[in-house]
Amino acid sequence: MIDFHCHLDLYPNALELLPVVAKRNKFTLAVTTSPRAWQITSQKFRKFENIKVALGLHPEVAERKIAEHGLMISLIPETRYIGEIGIDGSKEYANSLDTQERLFRDILTECNRHGRKILSIHSRNATSRVLDLVERNLSDGVAVMHWFSGSLKEARRAVAIGCWFSVGPAMVRSKKGRDIVHEIPPDRILPETDGPFVTLGENLLMPWDAISIADTLSFVWKVTRNEVQERLRLNLGNLLDEETGL
Ligand code: MN
Repeated sequence: MIDFHCHLDLYPNALELLPVVAKRNKFTLAVTTSPRAWQITSQKFRKFENIKVALGLHPEVAERKIAEHGLMISLIPETRYIGEIGIDGSKEYANSLDTQERLFRDILTECNRHGRKILSIHSRNATSRVLDLVERNLSDGVAVMHWFSGSLKEARRAVAIGCWFSVGPAMVRSKKGRDIVHEIPPDRILPETDGPFVTLGENLLMPWDAISIADTLSFVWKVTRNEVQERLRLNLGNLLDEETGL
């Protein structure tokens, strides 16, 4: 029904998938990994009103695509949706940490200057750095922490500074992920898949599979599955600040 973070352009049969996703999901946020990819993808996806394409420069490719830094910043006024952006503090990307941080800070600053942006943020192994930068640089806009994997203390801090969270089936499969879900206020959660990089058994997770987190939420919130769906729809409407008519 809602997938607030997937890489729809990277599915093997993306273009054929579009009408199916548009029909099965009420809303899908297709994040991109570079501003050039955003330019192409937002053109190709433009017929589908309930699929929004977010402008991104993924931290894992920040170093390789740093030539697109200026393009990234210059395109920010053209869309409300920004992602995938953020910092990856894993060993493989240690060499590019400074570049990643500079890029992320510049993006946040520019988003803040324009206001009301919705940002889908990657923070693996860099939660505190990401939260520091969000807290300092984004007062007008919403940071949606994608697949949050920080500590419970960091989760509480993220909540306190106003972050939202997109939570997927892979995250709620782990005890740690479920513990984090307990920390997040129910009115700050949206479902995500992060597909096609996540599998469900042998199959690729599809954008409509995001709702499989409903069982976990129903258990944690002690409400029915229908009430979970209703809550998530309300959340989406509140975040987008509009009547979604879902
Ligand atoms: Mn992703």
